[in-house]
Amino acid sequence: MLKTPAYAAPSAKKPLTPFTIERREPAPHEVLIDILFCGVCHSDIHQARDEWGGSAFPMVPGHEIVGKVVAIGSEVKKWVVGDIVGVGCFIDSCRECGPCREGEEQYCEEGMTATYNGTERGSGRPTYGGYSTRITVDENYVLRIPDGMPLERTAPLLCAGITTYSPLRHFGVKAGDRVAVVGLGGLGHVGVKIARAMGAEVTVLSHTPGKREEALRLGADHFLATGDPQVFKENGSRFDFILDTVSARHDYNDYLGLLRHDGTMVLVGIPEPVALAAGSLVMQRRRLTGSLIGGIRETQEMLDFCAAHEVAAEVEVIPIQRINEAFDRVVSSDVRYRFVIDMDSLKES
Ligand code: NAP
Ligand code: ZN
Ligand code: ZN
Repeated sequence: MLKTPAYAAPSAKKPLTPFTIERREPAPHEVLIDILFCGVCHSDIHQARDEWGGSAFPMVPGHEIVGKVVAIGSEVKKWVVGDIVGVGCFIDSCRECGPCREGEEQYCEEGMTATYNGTERGSGRPTYGGYSTRITVDENYVLRIPDGMPLERTAPLLCAGITTYSPLRHFGVKAGDRVAVVGLGGLGHVGVKIARAMGAEVTVLSHTPGKREEALRLGADHFLATGDPQVFKENGSRFDFILDTVSARHDYNDYLGLLRHDGTMVLVGIPEPVALAAGSLVMQRRRLTGSLIGGIRETQEMLDFCAAHEVAAEVEVIPIQRINEAFDRVVSSDVRYRFVIDMDSLKES
């Protein structure tokens, strides 16, 4: 076993503090990855603060991992030492059910093995995430980072990138479609860039009026400040597709009214529930659905797409010692637009 420095939440109410975990030497089909950067996703906060219920502590969050392969198991075919790779939100799944066979392991019928706050298949040991200096992962659950990508700006693509790319692709968003992205945070800002790269006409809906200039700079064509209730009256039936990335409770009914006849709204944000009026869907046969990250194959496709279109996250790189401050700033929408931990800060401490 390899003693590995990490940061962990000891319980839901406590700040993250230094913690030591054990990683194993790679089994025949595993690789050992030296973690270079790890993004800070709002899901890390929801889980570290037990906002979804059922969190296991101590918890080492982090599922936007970019690193370098430093050792490989005897049977590994896909990777060699020195490869620059990514690890996203899951590190295993049953590999046999319908979704797994279709390459949509995130919907595994036995439950995907989450990168952290999960348990390893077989051993039942807790999984620990990317707020640590290394991780051991099965070779089939590792992504290739295309050459030349800026690594700290690529880490957030492993969750924010695939979570926004997958529904845009799945629901067939194409050039000229009028797409609204609700919430200009970690997911939202990457969603704007990807939708734009797909040729859509993109509108950002934000509760922070001050983000107008930045939304346009990031590639949005239009900006609507949702603090003004008139916005919902004046833009009825305007959009073909709405991608809702908001992390806090808000009224879906208002947003559904912005969809055209037969339009689709996809929830990717996971806030507390709100009541849904049947009429919001019935009146124009509008669709409300949700989407969870993406499978390994589609995540690779997303990385290659982002490399080809020069899409990467806007990031603020921090040492891990500033993680608790970063969590608070994410919750108050004060991040432009993703915190990324430089893992050298943990190796030195
Ligand atoms: P984030 O960076 O905090 O962005 C969320 C955005 O929501 C904020 O930037 C803000 O945008 C908006 N917002 C925040 N509070 C609000 C409020 N009170 N009223 C209205 N809007 C508010 O978070 P993230 O990392 O992008 O994650 C967003 C959500 O997606 C989280 O719930 C996360 O757990 C979830 N998630 C889901 C998946 C999936 O697979 N489905 C994957 C990753 C994350 P404005 O300032 O522009 O309004
Ligand atoms: Zn995430
Ligand atoms: Zn499965």
